[in-house]
Parts: sequence; C-alpha cells; structure tokens
Amino acid sequence: MSLQSAVMQNNPLLHHIIATSGDQHQALSPIPTEAVAPIPLSDDSDVKNAIARSRSAFESWSYTSMSEREKVMRKLQKLIMRQRHELLDIIQRETGKARAHALEELVHAVMTARFLEKNAASVIRSRGRNGAIPVTTKASVNHMPIGVVGVIAPWNYPFSLALIDALAAIMAGNSVVLKPDVQTTWTALHAVRLLEQAGLPEGVISVVTGEGPTVGKALVEQADYICFTGSTETGRIIAQQVGERLINASLELGGKNPMIVCADANLDRFLEVALSACFTSSGQLCVSTERIYIAREIFDEFKNAFVERVKNITLGSHLGWGYDMGSITSKEHLERIESAVRQAQSEGAVVECGGKVRTDIGPLVYEPTVLTNVNRTMEISHKEVFGPVVYLTPFDSIDDAIKMSNDTAYGLSASIITRDMRAAGDIAARLDCGSVNINEGFAATFGSVEAPMGGMGQSGSGRRQGPEGILRFTEAQTVAVQRGGVVSRKFGDNDKRWGRIMVLKIRLMRGLKLR
Ligand code: NAD
Repeated sequence: MSLQSAVMQNNPLLHHIIATSGDQHQALSPIPTEAVAPIPLSDDSDVKNAIARSRSAFESWSYTSMSEREKVMRKLQKLIMRQRHELLDIIQRETGKARAHALEELVHAVMTARFLEKNAASVIRSRGRNGAIPVTTKASVNHMPIGVVGVIAPWNYPFSLALIDALAAIMAGNSVVLKPDVQTTWTALHAVRLLEQAGLPEGVISVVTGEGPTVGKALVEQADYICFTGSTETGRIIAQQVGERLINASLELGGKNPMIVCADANLDRFLEVALSACFTSSGQLCVSTERIYIAREIFDEFKNAFVERVKNITLGSHLGWGYDMGSITSKEHLERIESAVRQAQSEGAVVECGGKVRTDIGPLVYEPTVLTNVNRTMEISHKEVFGPVVYLTPFDSIDDAIKMSNDTAYGLSASIITRDMRAAGDIAARLDCGSVNINEGFAATFGSVEAPMGGMGQSGSGRRQGPEGILRFTEAQTVAVQRGGVVSRKFGDNDKRWGRIMVLKIRLMRGLKLR
C-alpha cells in the first residue's frame, strides 16, 4: 500500500464522505513542496444514499430548538479560531493562496457564524401581518425549512464557501449535502469536522465528492434546494435543471467588477484599496476588481503610481506567512489566464507590468498584471479572467464611467473611489450590480455579513448573507385565523347585498386609513 493511500484510509475526516465507487481523485498542490492525499469519489448511488441520510437527519434537525442551533454556531466560532493554524495550512496546501488571504476565509466564516448565532432566530420566527379583515382576521407567516439543501462549492474560497451557505441552511432547520470542488475537498472536510465537533448531529451535513457534470448533476437532480457558487456557464446549466424540477436555487456566479476612480480621489487611498481589490487570492475571487476606470485628468499619475506598487508586490509559494500574493490554484486555470493576457496583447493591449509565469518562485505563480489600451472589442474588456489581471482605462465624464461599468453581462460588485460621498451615492444608484463599495475594493460589502450579497444579470440570482441569505432556505407559509364573520360570501345568501357590504367595507377601510 502506498503512503498516500495509507494516509487516506486512516484519515478520520473521510468518515464525512459518502463514496463507494472505488475510484479516487488525486489533486495536486500548487505549492511544489506540498502533497495532497487522494480522495475517494462518489457515484450516483452514493449521492442517493447521501440524500436519504440527509432526509432522515432533517426529520429531527428541523425540530431542534433555536437555542440548540445557536450553541453549535457559538462553539464553531471557537473551534475555527482554536484550530486556525491547521486550517490555514490545508487551505494554502490546496489553493496556493497567501496565508493572509486564507485567514480572510476563516474570519469570514467566524463572522457569519456569529451573525447567524445572534440573528437567525429573529429572522425566521413567525410574525403577524395584517389580515383580510381588520381585527377579525389574524394572519401570520411561518418560515419553514425546505428539506435537503445541496451546496455546490468552488475551489477558490474552499473553506468559507463550503461553510457560510451551509450554516445559514442549517440554522433555518435544513440538512445539507455538500459537494466541494475536487481540488479542495480536504479543506471542506475540515470544515465539516468542525461542525460535528461543535455538536451538529451526524447526518445533518454530508459530503459527496466528484466532478460537477456527474456527481454535481446527481445532487441537483435530487436535493430540495440548490445553493450553487461557481461559473456563469455552470450556473446556466443548473438553472435549467432546477427549472425543470421546479425547485428553487441561489446562483452565485462570476463577475467583471469595475472600479471608478473619480478626479478628486486620494492617491494613497486608491493605491491601498486597489492592490487588495485586484490581487487578493491572486485575483481568483468572484468580487475581484478586473477593470479600473480613472478620470482622465489624474490618469497618468494614478497609473504610474499603481504600476510601481504592483511591481513591488511580493510573491511566494510555500506554507506560512511572508508574501503578499500566492499561486494560481491549478495548471489548467493558469493556462486560461496566460491565454487571456496573450490574446489581449495580440489585439493591441499594452502590458504595463507582469504578464509572466514566475517558475523561479513557484510552478503556478503568475505575476500581478496591469494592462492599458484595452477597448470594447477585445474579449478581455468584458470576459472574466479570474486571475491577477486588471486593465486601466481613462474616462472623460462620470456618465462615461458608469456606462462603461455597466457594459458587461455581469453585475456582481463595483467600487468607487472619491472624497465626495454624495456623488458616490448617486453613482452607486446607477450601477447595475449587487454590491457597491465606496473607498474600498470588495471587503466592505463582503465583510458586512449582516447585509445581502449576490449578483444581477449573469452574476446570478438570490442573495447570501444577511436575513435574505437565511430566508432563501425557507418556505414562507401564511396562516390566517378568522374570528367572527367569514371573509368569503356565504353560499345561499343574497349576493347583491353581499356585494354592497363588500364595497362599503372597502370604502370604510380606506376612509379610516386602515391600510
Ligand atoms: P465551476 O462552475 O467550474 O465549478 C463550481 C462547482 O460546480 C464545482 O464544485 C464543480 O464541480 C461544480 N460543477 C461543475 N459543473 C457542474 C454541473 N454541470 N452540475 C453541478 N455541479 C457542477 O466554477 P469554478 O471554476 O470552480 O469557480 C470559479 C467561478 O466561480 C468564477 O467564475 C467565479 O467568479 C465564480 N465564483 C462566484 C462566487 C460568487 O459568490 N458569486 C464566489 C466564488 C466563485
């Protein structure tokens, strides 16, 4: 038996996976000195079993008290913090990202768990509403869990995106079957282990493993709700499948996020914000900034200063602290990024800095890259790269900047750099996207876990975070109690008289301003 399969067989984390196909997937670490153990793969029958196990866990979990659920969230926060070193190692090993960016995932998960602990009960508790007839009709709305929620997660934020949606679903009383990306299964397994250590009963969350078009598809065909995070292409396939089944889904998809830098922007503020906006997790982040529109009068000054700072970004490819930006996560994705930049160059874009693979640092390290001279006819102007590549373009008026910002099919995130808060608010209202950050890249909205996040247009539908992120995992049920006279006409009564009474009632209600 090889060392890796021995590691695999003895690993208690595997107890969370339902996988009997006998096949394995071997992911490669982007960090050359690190190895990732293979994972067993699920097949159709495993997905079926995971759904059945999850359905049976749902029967009891949906009746647990909110205080039980809050206890799990409380303990989870402590466990994440306590085990952070091990978690940071596994995230780095599977993604190659810088340790600071891995830490952002843990912080995001802790903040989400805390928000859910403190707020989920009040978000989903039943509330009274005005009934059909004042005083005599009492209506209330219950938020009932849906059942088995299938969470399909990508590789770029493998810890937070495996957890944060699952946590909201669980707090709303659902059970979860999670399918992580095959590149980052071990990170997801660590997240699930923490949940069970925090007291979540066995079976409330299960993991299936494998490729999207097979295992992911089987999950979409059987779960009661799908929470998908990934590319717009896959989102479109899933939307068709859930449409056919008439089940609901939230789709968190790609973006081509703009930043507008107004003429009054502070240069230091811009530099500080733009570097992390473009290069966090090597740009492999749905809300990463990929295009910056700068007022023409400050364009040269801001461009030159930005390029200088980008050239000074430190790169690395090892476990631990000590560098600003890490690797691209896979060879295939690195090739996509290289090809996007090459194509842009061949179409006339100018590479101001970057544009090279740095094998001297690590096999999958790609330099942070700044382009200029990009125009609307080039694919890179409107297609997501999902890497450390940004282009800078001058604008002559705010109207032009807004027009260019809105000129893609996406609508995920945007940012505005200015000192004029009123102007920023006006610009934000004209941007077609789900979140707008003023004097920040993406972190202000991303970190505001009490507010919803999601996309317009081809960036998806539905919202994670905030009350909206919990309510999507519930079905609203209205219960109305009628006291005294009935609302509808009694069969056999004089219909004309009933009609007169109804008209009178409506006039009375409007006259008394009851509604
Ligand atoms: P992807 O769509 O290829 O894969 C995402 C997940 O879906 C993986 O687990 C994959 O196995 C699974 N999958 C693939 N095909 C499937 C199918 N036919 N049926 C069911 N599941 C399937 O995306 P990716 O390349 O892993 O992730 C990068 C993309 O995700 C980027 O476009 C990025 O912008 C987007 N993303 C969006 C958000 C957001 O919140 N909006 C967050 C992170 C990433």
